[in-house]
Amino acid sequence: MTPYPKLLAPLDLGFTTLKNRVLMGSMHTGLEEAGDWNRVAAFYGARAKGGVGLIVTGGMAPNKEGAVMPGAAGLFSEEDIANHTRVTARVHDEGGKIAMQILHAGRYGFSPDCVAPSAIKSPISMFKPKALDEAGIEKQIADIVTAASRAQAAGYDGVEIMGSEGYFLNQFLVAHTNKRTDRWGGSYENRMRLPVEIVQRVRAAVGREFIVIYRLSMIDLIPNGSTWAEVVQLAKAIETAGASIINTGIGWHEARIPTIATSVPRAAFAWVTNKLMGEVAIPIITSNRINTPDVAEELLAEGCADMVSMARPFLADPDFVIKAAAGKPEMIAPCIACNQACLDHTFSLKMSTCLVNPRACYETVLLLTPVETSINIAIVGAGPAGLSTALSAAERGHKITLFDTAPMVGGQLNLAKEVPGKEEFRGLVAWYQARIKALNIKTRLGKMATAKDLAGFDEVVIATGAKPRDPQIAGQNLPHVLGYAEVLGGAKVGKRVAVIGAGGIGFDICEYLVTTDSPTLDLEAWKTEWGVGDPQINRGGLAEAGPQPEPAARSVTLLQRKSTKPGKGLGKTTGWIHRATLKMKGVQMIGGVNYEEITPQGLIISEGEARENIRLIEADTIVLCAGQQPERRLADELEAMGIKCHVIGGADVAAELDAKRAILQGTKLAATL
Ligand code: NAP
Ligand code: SF4
Repeated sequence: MTPYPKLLAPLDLGFTTLKNRVLMGSMHTGLEEAGDWNRVAAFYGARAKGGVGLIVTGGMAPNKEGAVMPGAAGLFSEEDIANHTRVTARVHDEGGKIAMQILHAGRYGFSPDCVAPSAIKSPISMFKPKALDEAGIEKQIADIVTAASRAQAAGYDGVEIMGSEGYFLNQFLVAHTNKRTDRWGGSYENRMRLPVEIVQRVRAAVGREFIVIYRLSMIDLIPNGSTWAEVVQLAKAIETAGASIINTGIGWHEARIPTIATSVPRAAFAWVTNKLMGEVAIPIITSNRINTPDVAEELLAEGCADMVSMARPFLADPDFVIKAAAGKPEMIAPCIACNQACLDHTFSLKMSTCLVNPRACYETVLLLTPVETSINIAIVGAGPAGLSTALSAAERGHKITLFDTAPMVGGQLNLAKEVPGKEEFRGLVAWYQARIKALNIKTRLGKMATAKDLAGFDEVVIATGAKPRDPQIAGQNLPHVLGYAEVLGGAKVGKRVAVIGAGGIGFDICEYLVTTDSPTLDLEAWKTEWGVGDPQINRGGLAEAGPQPEPAARSVTLLQRKSTKPGKGLGKTTGWIHRATLKMKGVQMIGGVNYEEITPQGLIISEGEARENIRLIEADTIVLCAGQQPERRLADELEAMGIKCHVIGGADVAAELDAKRAILQGTKLAATL
């Protein structure tokens, strides 16, 4: 008996049956744009092989004016259809099903050609869209229908029409972006005409036996967004128009409420989908921050939805479903919702991959082939770099011994998991532990590895990590000065705190210091903190009172020497959340300072090159988060003895080291050993 009977139950759509209730949600990876269609096929093929019920591709543009950016992929020519056919064939060969998402960006298009219901620029793009005339609207509909027909010709099992997240169709639905006075604007009947017309015409073009998913924005999270009555009215009209499935969209991209970041509680928006259950007869899919089979099963068991969408978890582990079906959920590489290697890459115009699984989208590039001759490898350091080397090399067939001075594996991941909003790191460490056991990796924990311990191994990998940089500030040895590791380790901290260094760790420390109970673990508290209301009461789901954060646990000042905005170097898609969180908690952020001296009263700073405006920041505790330096003692000792070793991770380069770079470097090394 499977522990996931609901998740693994087939879904009968009448003309076709999905083998389970798992949808791999659409993600823009950049693969299609790169043009290596063998690689695209390998990516989707691996997910189909891993057992997912239905895959949805990244968004494909129906035309130039609807593209998310110039050069965005679409189905424009016979050659495009042939390329996509390679993908659908591979997925079908692996026993899967795949639908193509049709994404018209509207005013979110990063292009001067972008079009929208009205000429209103979005706060997140630099291009003002052109308002469409009647003929222009007809052209958009026709192009979307053509894209659906071409998808069918390319062998797709269906299409998903992207109607949420503030894209083109969503822009017609709300008065916020639709100021038209013709039959496409004004009353809600008029504003919803476009999506309904599109679904109707797509259905007419593709016939009855083709999946048509409509992704419907169930909570816009913007001022003047849809009411719940409008959401229900639209859902019913979309069903009548011929959709096979309704998928959930949460929040517009311009919303100032996080919807998928790691600090968002798991399944934070399933209650919204749940409200729609029973309003339509077609299956409904729920979405956002669902990353384990247990959470997914629970949602289905509670009747929140008929199917569950997960996107990023399929970057982290293509075999999510077969591992769940085998009763081995602990073997699933967890998506920690960090966005660091997926969405942050997309928004930097880089190929997506995954921090936890650097082989995602690199299936044909980063190969972990089984070895012919198994060798003994010693790896010193069980942080992200050492762990990823250990796992990948062991998977290839090598015999691994992993050393660390700490009594447990994880390195700095064990610090990260103490930060409120970063609880997902706990699952990552647990997964490493489970994999170490499954791969029979020997561990020698809790004592320093010496050159003697490493004698006799065929290869030695040094992944000893980084140590805190010494900022050399006068008075830093006073007892009320702490390192970040001491703070996260539970050291006593006073009520007034100055934090030196506003990098990733400085921000983490501030969140730790101002938070009493993590709202990530308490959905109602999180909703109150960010001002998420019920769309049945508040239009768009914005609570009338706005964000209501818990009072800060401490008074904190965050400092850096640079005069740039503190937090500028944080993640592209998540930095704003960290900045907003600290702002809500009243953290003072000061840039462009010099640290003159630490005294028992606090921290004396001055400003600028002329060291003006000398003043005391009164503080009971000062926390040093001044960056890191390589911990190379063992590597240097071995090299001095003429023992060859591979130095990776923080021990190699500590500057701006994060888990993404460490894991990638470790995996790449393992591929060559
Ligand atoms: P970091 O991001 O490089 O920041 C180091 C901070 O220390 C900077 O604010 C820097 O600002 C300051 N600093 C540097 N030299 C100093 C000196 N001699 N005296 C005083 N201050 C000094 O490093 P980190 O905070 O240690 O983080 C390490 C890595 O982990 C980073 O790559 C970070 O991105 C990653 N991380 C990421 C996250 C995340 O949310 N994605 C969270 C935690 C860590 P000034 O030079 O201007 O003073
Ligand atoms: Fe998930 Fe982070 Fe991997 Fe993206 S990079 S798939 S958010 S673990």
